[in-house]
Amino acid sequence: MSQVLQIRQLSVEFPTRRGVLKALDDVSFSIEAGEVVGVVGESGAGKSLTGAAIIGLLEPPGRVCGGEIWLEGQRIDLLSDDEMRRIRGRKIGAIFQDPLTSLNPLYTVGQQLVETITTHLSLTASQARTRAIELLEATGIPAAKERIDHYPHQFSGGMRQRVVIALALAAEPKLIVADEPTTALDVSIQAQIIELLKRLCKEQGAAVMLITHDMGVIAETANRVVVMYAGRVVEIGSVRDVIHDPRHPYTAGLMGSIPSIAHTADRLVQIDGSMPRLNAIPTGCAFHPRCDKVMDVCKQERPDLMAAGRSQAACWLCKKEVA
Ligand code: SF4
Ligand code: MG
Repeated sequence: MSQVLQIRQLSVEFPTRRGVLKALDDVSFSIEAGEVVGVVGESGAGKSLTGAAIIGLLEPPGRVCGGEIWLEGQRIDLLSDDEMRRIRGRKIGAIFQDPLTSLNPLYTVGQQLVETITTHLSLTASQARTRAIELLEATGIPAAKERIDHYPHQFSGGMRQRVVIALALAAEPKLIVADEPTTALDVSIQAQIIELLKRLCKEQGAAVMLITHDMGVIAETANRVVVMYAGRVVEIGSVRDVIHDPRHPYTAGLMGSIPSIAHTADRLVQIDGSMPRLNAIPTGCAFHPRCDKVMDVCKQERPDLMAAGRSQAACWLCKKEVA
């Protein structure tokens, strides 16, 4: 499979009056065509920031201060705002938690879909309308032929997120960045929406970066998982490996939040404490104040990602294993 997205040692900083805060530090991973990579961690881990950096929508004063972002062999982190806007429309589709941020309340969903399709694909307005109806049908909107002329507020939250998915896929992008796409929705429809997103992206061969705090969503959807903590990647591996054999104590803790896994395994780990603030990231392993396996070395030296079974983890326990 071909690599769609490659992030190499991406770092993001926020200048403040009291000095520069590093919000992302050396984040590296890649996503292939047709693959879903889940990016997981508690709030403040740097997941959304990674997504925002990729789509070129970091909120100032945040800025990329190191590393590279490649999309289909093109380096995109050095592009101008205009060039990036074109890439975003054509090659990257974004889906956010609140569907209303992606939809314009003043236009019908059909107008918005047709606009996106005619801007990026060489289709006439009437061909674009046919395509828009197909997209709405593919996302499970009933009576798409009539509903295409409705305004966003005439849809329920779940239906609206289906429209956003149709819109994100309309220009046949290579990469979809979905940031907590179902968090605002009713639990009963979350799984349907995730399943839909996964199926449509696979059909189009799009790579998906799925950002979520919910390990359960990852378990159901992703091929691989990137676990983030305090702006760094602390574990990366296939979903199967990471779920059945988490190597970083933080990952093991996140597993405890999936009810079906927690009660079958001896893994009901509670992670006490909370994600450190950017201006107070602990020395050594940033997770050490919360870790029940902490050793002396953890407080002084920061572990980099290292081989751990079939995965990689940034934890001194993995080093011990090798020694
Ligand atoms: Fe815990 Fe040490 Fe591993 Fe950090 S490096 S997760 S403190 S055992
Ligand atoms: Mg977030």
